[in-house]
Amino acid sequence: MMRDPMIDGPLRLEFHLVCSKSMLNVLKSIFLFAVFSFLARPVLGLQAANAPAAQATDPQIEAALRQISAQTIRANIEKLVSFGTRSTLSAQDDASMAKGRGIGAAREWIKSEFERYSKDCNGCLEVKTDSFIEQPADRIPTPTRITNVYAVLKGTNPANTNRIVLVSGHYDSRDSDTFDANGDAPGANDDGSGTAVSLECARVLSKMKFPATVIFLTVAGEEQGLNGSRHFAQMAKDQNWDIEAVLNNDIVGGDKNPGQDASVVRVFSEGIPAAADEREIRRIRMLGGESDSGSRELARYIADVGRSYENGVKPMLVFRLDRYLRGGDHYSFNQQGFPAVRFTEYREDFHHQHQNPRVENGIEYGDLPKFVDYDYVARVARLNAATLASLAAAPAPPANVHLLTKDLENDSTLTWDASPGGLAAGYEIVWRTTTSPEWDHVQSVGNVTQATLPISKDQVIFGVRAVDAAGHRSLPVIPFPQH
Ligand SMILES: [Zn+2]
Repeated sequence: MMRDPMIDGPLRLEFHLVCSKSMLNVLKSIFLFAVFSFLARPVLGLQAANAPAAQATDPQIEAALRQISAQTIRANIEKLVSFGTRSTLSAQDDASMAKGRGIGAAREWIKSEFERYSKDCNGCLEVKTDSFIEQPADRIPTPTRITNVYAVLKGTNPANTNRIVLVSGHYDSRDSDTFDANGDAPGANDDGSGTAVSLECARVLSKMKFPATVIFLTVAGEEQGLNGSRHFAQMAKDQNWDIEAVLNNDIVGGDKNPGQDASVVRVFSEGIPAAADEREIRRIRMLGGESDSGSRELARYIADVGRSYENGVKPMLVFRLDRYLRGGDHYSFNQQGFPAVRFTEYREDFHHQHQNPRVENGIEYGDLPKFVDYDYVARVARLNAATLASLAAAPAPPANVHLLTKDLENDSTLTWDASPGGLAAGYEIVWRTTTSPEWDHVQSVGNVTQATLPISKDQVIFGVRAVDAAGHRSLPVIPFPQH
């Protein structure tokens, strides 16, 4: 059953006051407050006390989430570990692949899994590789073949099939020495877990149909310097792919250490976009837009999805590109201007990452399967799948969103072009105070391309999003000022 808390509000909230100038401010404040409180009340059934705006839930998506299996995830992570090492520098010749050791064997197995899922859905997935030779660099001593493996679930709506949402994990691993091509590097958590999330999302979501395209990606070269994702994101940029969202899962194994909180997953997002040019940075500085990058809107969207499809793991938004001293594949996408976030478990155990498996002074080192909490990985996979499905089912975001600023006034008028692709049944305006981390108000405005709200643009941040008839919501678009 669709649980849609939104109630349509008035299309256009306009107030004309005729009164003496001296009384204007006082009367207007009282009047607007009273009228708006009244108008907003039905909507506030949802957002009383400024509760953030939740997504509607879709029973088909809920059913798909129930298919995600901790047992399958466990089997996949154990299989990845069985290749001994998945160092990007490890063997990928035929003999090693036949023996089942090294990154080449891992790559072929991932490909065969995607192909197997595709067979189960009458060839619905296009399984592809993006393969290239990386020239020697900091952590790449000799020219090395790097291969990203991915599966494409093509969108079924011709006007929306070019829109892409993507989930990624890196299937390469490393031990204590980045240059060690031979030693065991199990990489169960880093990043067998993220690879398993991509695989499990592909297995489950390939049974559904979406108007927009979903890509399930696994990359190599992460540990050598994000080489695989950099190549892939560059390819996407060069080919003008319309990527609306990248979900990068790296270390989502829920390492079983005493400080772990298995009910939380961190979601990292950049503030000032890596791809912002001088003009955009000037605008961000002027308008206080430093917390409204596409990646951050995506993070807020994930928080909304987490509330709608509660599954025991709560996204903890971290307004920061990544952890100290660390990086990840989402950054490769950010550099090309794509919204991209990173999922990582709440508390990492650094004895279990980038370590030769060993016992030293009573401490066990190594990224071993026994430290992974498979139920946790499954919950993170559900959050990913719910986000991918919500976005792939949703209309495209509205285009050319503007906030009219030609007059000094206390109302705010927003205009936009209809969501391209024809899926939108209406629009919602979301807003929050400038100090608020998440959207704390939403107003449904109907199927229009302009709305005026009795709220001063000076103290809030607005966004406009498209909604389809079933309640799937696009990412919100932050308006440009229009003088
Ligand atoms: Zn990693």
